[in-house]
Amino acid sequence: MSEFEQNVLKLLEDINSKLDKLLKTEPAATASPVPSTSAAPFPAATTVKPSAVVDKQEEEARLEEKPPVEGRRICPECGGTSFATHEDKSQVLHQMGGVKIYAKKYVCRKCGYEK
Ligand SMILES: [Zn+2]
Repeated sequence: MSEFEQNVLKLLEDINSKLDKLLKTEPAATASPVPSTSAAPFPAATTVKPSAVVDKQEEEARLEEKPPVEGRRICPECGGTSFATHEDKSQVLHQMGGVKIYAKKYVCRKCGYEK
């Protein structure tokens, strides 16, 4: 064993003994629990962008504002061109984030024919 290694060993033993003294003289420090950093308020993660919600609402609005162009749709029963649109709840076109988009069905305002 070289002199250098012996010196290192001595230093290590010295540090060991010092640590032992520290641990013995400060039992409270070692016994105390780890400082709770989790108690600090964690910044709330906002995963839902408000703009996404607005986009969804605008898309729904667009779908609502797209009635059939009157005059192009003709009732096969009475030849009427005025239709009311109703959501056909039995036909879901697509579902997005819990919001269902239903198919539209057209009801003749004159005779009530449903297409
Ligand atoms: Zn009709």
